[in-house]
Amino acid sequence: MSQTDYDVVIIGGGPAGMTAGLYASRSELKTLLIEKMIMGGQVMTTTRVENWPGYPGGVDGPELMMKFQEHCVEFGLETTTGTVEKIEDLGKVKRLVVDGKEILCSVVIIATGVIPKKLGLPNEKELVGRGVSYCATCDGAFFRNVPIAVIGGGDTAAEEALFLKRFGSKVIMVHRRDELRATKILRTRIAADEKIEMAWNSVVDSLVSDNTGLTGMVLRDVNTGELTEVEVAGLFVAVGVDPTTDVVTGFLELDEGGYIRAGEDTVTSVPGVFAAGDCRTNILKQISTAVGDGAVAALMAERHIDALRQEG
Ligand code: NAP
Repeated sequence: MSQTDYDVVIIGGGPAGMTAGLYASRSELKTLLIEKMIMGGQVMTTTRVENWPGYPGGVDGPELMMKFQEHCVEFGLETTTGTVEKIEDLGKVKRLVVDGKEILCSVVIIATGVIPKKLGLPNEKELVGRGVSYCATCDGAFFRNVPIAVIGGGDTAAEEALFLKRFGSKVIMVHRRDELRATKILRTRIAADEKIEMAWNSVVDSLVSDNTGLTGMVLRDVNTGELTEVEVAGLFVAVGVDPTTDVVTGFLELDEGGYIRAGEDTVTSVPGVFAAGDCRTNILKQISTAVGDGAVAALMAERHIDALRQEG
């Protein structure tokens, strides 16, 4: 078998990547996990995880991810912080360039996850950190006793609204339709909450600010086109996610949404490269599905490496 630095390199330290790391290390494959920022992925921005089995009453996202990290390191997984700049398929060997340095391995598992979508408004970027945020857990506490808006109607928006109501004088949820996309349990909680107001059939037309930061938003009624200015000091954007697949664009086959084309077996268009978790085309984005993918990807890695060893 060809000379490599690692049997397996995993890109991304969310639930999918860490589970792949746990399984691969436990199978005695020499494994490195590369994370760009902090381990834990999107779950680090989740206030309370209520649907991860084994935790009745729920568990805080960061607390759960710390446990994941402790657990996979216990089996000898090496982790490092770095940015993967390039991945090349040299046949039996994969070549990665990480912060300018070369790493050779037999298998690459892509578990790069997703990032929150932006609204795409002209002054949105300059107001980040001055009223606009994509993470209620990170920034919610800055907005005490002031009106807060949450934009979106999915699970993330609903969870953020329910979390932010403890800080804000009120929470206005802005949704472009007249029915939330979020799961029923969250819809029921939102409907029953007196501190959460709904702005149905509405989108944010523009953001209003002064030299201190965000002061309001102009809502556009999607049916009538009517514009209404609403005073808010904090605005949390939760309008969905985009896949983090820049590093594999042009290398792996992607679907029309930019997600890696891979089925439940995590097999991609390049032999020896597997995709796990939210970055691949899937029907459900949950910690449990990411964890399942991570385990499958590690098994596929083991099989691929066994086949390479047999070839000699
Ligand atoms: P999502 O399910 O895609 O919902 C995005 C929401 O934003 C939708 O309501 C959508 O409206 C709205 N939207 C999209 N683009 C918009 C725009 N340009 N302007 C205004 N509104 C816009 O995204 P998510 O809530 O981030 O969830 C992502 C995935 O993670 C989902 O699969 C979700 O189930 C999962 N998740 C699960 C949990 C949990 O299980 N506890 C928690 C968080 C997330 P429409 O409804 O009209 O399309």
